[in-house]
Amino acid sequence: MIDFELPPGAKVLKKMAHGLAENMFRNLSRKYDSYEHEHDQVVELKSMGGMMGGAMGGGGGKKKKEEKKEEKKDEGDKPKPPRGAGVTMVVGAEEMCWGDAGLMLAIPGGGLGNAAIAAVATEDQKARFGSKFAAMAITEPCCGSDSSGIRATAVLDEKTNEWVLNGEKIFVTSGVFCDAVVAWASLDRSKGRNAIKSFVIEKDTPGMTVSKVEEKLGIRASDTSSIVFEDCRIPYDNILGSPEIKAEGGFKGVMKTFDNTRPAVAAMAIGVARAALDFTKETLEEEGVTVSYDRGQHKLSAVQKDLLEMEANLDVARLLTWRAASMLDTGERNSLEASMAKAKAGRAATLVTQKCVELLGPKGYSTECLVEKWMRDCKINDIFEGTGQIQMLIIARNILGYGRDMLK
Ligand SMILES: Cc1cc2nc3c(=O)[nH]c(=O)nc-3n(C[C@H](O)[C@H](O)[C@H](O)COP(=O)(O)OP(=O)(O)OC[C@H]3O[C@@H](n4cnc5c(N)ncnc54)[C@H](O)[C@@H]3O)c2cc1C
Repeated sequence: MIDFELPPGAKVLKKMAHGLAENMFRNLSRKYDSYEHEHDQVVELKSMGGMMGGAMGGGGGKKKKEEKKEEKKDEGDKPKPPRGAGVTMVVGAEEMCWGDAGLMLAIPGGGLGNAAIAAVATEDQKARFGSKFAAMAITEPCCGSDSSGIRATAVLDEKTNEWVLNGEKIFVTSGVFCDAVVAWASLDRSKGRNAIKSFVIEKDTPGMTVSKVEEKLGIRASDTSSIVFEDCRIPYDNILGSPEIKAEGGFKGVMKTFDNTRPAVAAMAIGVARAALDFTKETLEEEGVTVSYDRGQHKLSAVQKDLLEMEANLDVARLLTWRAASMLDTGERNSLEASMAKAKAGRAATLVTQKCVELLGPKGYSTECLVEKWMRDCKINDIFEGTGQIQMLIIARNILGYGRDMLK
């Protein structure tokens, strides 16, 4: 059954997130964009982690008693995600990014690593790490798109029962201000991608160092850094998932993280683009240009047609995103749908924000308004968690039934 009704938790979070975006994020946007590294952690956000539950962490906001009861009823042998958590996550992410995407990423608890923990951690690990602000470290100087080629290693020291991590990670979102990093490393590089596992490394663990902080085009309120692991020792129980190296399908386990994060990144793109489109429509309305939904194309001006096309693009992206997120809630595998959502949303948002700058002319280009910033902010959604090109590759492989070696 197709149900477009939002779950109750999502409606509550949407309202809360919109209030936060409008009343807080928009006021802080320019400040944290202009002074990228001249500030400590975004002080205004420090106390917010618990309140919003973290946009990436799989649903936020306080749950009502009835919802908690229903979750309990659902509990079988296998832990299930809270009802509607996936849809709640994307609805919240869109709304907060309508305010400011960089600030949303800087909310403690809303890190990409939190999504990994939500996707693959055991109940015990969720209890230990679930409330921490977790960054996600996959990309290395050697490889980003082809994450199966990573070189970082994790070797078990059987005497101390600790994993010893070595390697370098680059472009880690929230790598400076997070409480923990979820890093991918290989248990045995001779065994290929099935030996890649994810590990939680708590901040200030000896052997983990932030080696560089990036200066970026957009999402400048969110820090991005390189992290080096040198004989970094972590407890055995900090491995997410099984330490067994399976001959087949082991890599799919770690890749499951993307099933969670890609719909969220798609929602981020939609939020930023919607902000730009809302502002553009309001500005043009003041000039007497209104959108008309009941006239044929031949009766529309070029600008009106552009506005309708942008709206339609964002609608399509949103529907794909909600579908991918609702599959998380029903427990269906959503890798194809998550990639479709991210590919469409990343591309649509880039086009929409660029078009908004174009339609507004000097006003769009000037730093007096936030439209130029939204154009810069939204580009990242077509890059991280797999670029647009990589999403197209995944979609094609899925639809055609081709393996990695058949379509590169
Ligand atoms: C601001 C920012 C934040 C980030 N945050 C994180 C983070 O938190 N954690 C993390 O692990 N990583 C993060 N990344 C890294 C990001 O995920 C990678 O940059 C991205 O996956 C691309 O990998 P790459 O940089 O190695 O580029 P490459 O893989 O070298 O790709 C370069 C270009 O080639 C294209 N390309 C590559 N392979 C193919 C192919 N087979 N077919 C067609 N085109 C192809 C790509 O689409 C891209 O356009 C972040 C990056 C940025 C810029």
